[in-house]
Amino acid sequence: MTGDEKHIEALGPLQIAQRQFDIAAEHLELAADLRRILRVCQRELTVHFPVRMDDGSIRVFEGYRMQHNLARGPAKGGIRYHPSLTLDEVKALAMWMTWKCAVVAIPFGGAKGGVVCDPKTMSRPELERLTRRYATEISVLIGPEKDIPAPDVNTSAQVMAWIMDTYSMHHGYSIPAVVTGKPLSIGGSEGRREATAMGVLFAVQDAAQHLGLDLGQATVAIQGFGNVGATAAHLFHARGVRVVAVSDSHGGIYNSAGLDLDQLRRVKEETGSVVNHRDGDRVSNAELLELPCDVLVPAALENQITKENAPRLRARIVAEGANGPTTPDADDILYDRGIFLVPDVLANAGGVTVSYFEWVQDLQSFFWTEQEVNAKLKSIMDRSFASVLDIAQNRKVNMRTAAYILAVKRVAEATTTRGIYP
Ligand code: NAD
Repeated sequence: MTGDEKHIEALGPLQIAQRQFDIAAEHLELAADLRRILRVCQRELTVHFPVRMDDGSIRVFEGYRMQHNLARGPAKGGIRYHPSLTLDEVKALAMWMTWKCAVVAIPFGGAKGGVVCDPKTMSRPELERLTRRYATEISVLIGPEKDIPAPDVNTSAQVMAWIMDTYSMHHGYSIPAVVTGKPLSIGGSEGRREATAMGVLFAVQDAAQHLGLDLGQATVAIQGFGNVGATAAHLFHARGVRVVAVSDSHGGIYNSAGLDLDQLRRVKEETGSVVNHRDGDRVSNAELLELPCDVLVPAALENQITKENAPRLRARIVAEGANGPTTPDADDILYDRGIFLVPDVLANAGGVTVSYFEWVQDLQSFFWTEQEVNAKLKSIMDRSFASVLDIAQNRKVNMRTAAYILAVKRVAEATTTRGIYP
């Protein structure tokens, strides 16, 4: 068993998501009927579709699109390409999207989708054909007024461009608002590429201010070096926070004096992994989590901080760039140890917030400057952080439960106000 496998607890992501919901529902004394509605996904689509590979063979892929709840607006959520993606994982991710949109009070419900595939072993033309066919299969659910996908693990602005083009071709005219996280040239938003990491930074700044921690003297370790992790590393560095460790799926690199990020980016581009960076010590992904640092940003996958390693974490702040990196048992341990955790539904909500801005701009065909985007994002992140902290302090609960209390209350209220149809 590898170090990483040892950290996987018995609960699957869907059970974890439901347990987190149950805790908030208990605090809110939510009616049993409402609990039954909100514990499950409203719509679940599984598709199997053929793709012609470069060698002429045909492979059949499995894909999903889940809509957890639509009470507060159209569904919103990313698309993940991963060889070990599961149905339950996508359901959990869709549920987390509902709460995330509600925490930051943007008018969307939660969705998520993905394809079981390993994009690292596929050519660009194969990925394009897979994406276009998957987009076609899920086109019964998606649309600017219905469900708006975005990038997630192993999907990019280019993948979003193919989805936008496929959907537009089916309709005979350009429909940029069907996806967010697009390239700027076809209706993307300034600031979207950096938005998730920018939101993590704002959340960490708020947490540091609350704790009286001087970020100018602080260190940060980041697990994952993709859309979220690599951008976060650069944003923290630009704000004078020392980035001491980063990692990707091959492992990590640690230098207590701080890593040279420009060199790291070059090494990642040229060799495919940050572990080939010479100026530091190699660490495993599990070891990275336990390094001495002030701020820890898990920005890779679920189930990384568990009851096994939570007692050994040394950070003062954990800001969840990833979705679902911490198990409920680990939440309790971190809270008891006085480690301040900013949960995923708040910490990484910058991505969906600027996705919302992108959608609004596309619908109006009227685009904002990067300064406008970032100023609006900061105000939403600061306001949401303050609301969640207020609940955490008043009810004496951790920040995750506080965020869930805020979110579930908003979704429950929308559901009750609309009433049960018919
Ligand atoms: P990405 O594919 O761009 O990057 C993922 C990174 O994680 C890569 O560096 C990869 O090498 C690394 N990784 C993969 N498996 C790993 C493992 N077992 N251990 C350590 N590292 C591993 O994906 P992303 O978009 O940056 O997403 C990362 C996380 O952030 C996911 O949980 C995602 O749901 C969440 N998230 C992303 C966005 C967004 O806007 N992209 C928004 C909110 C939340």
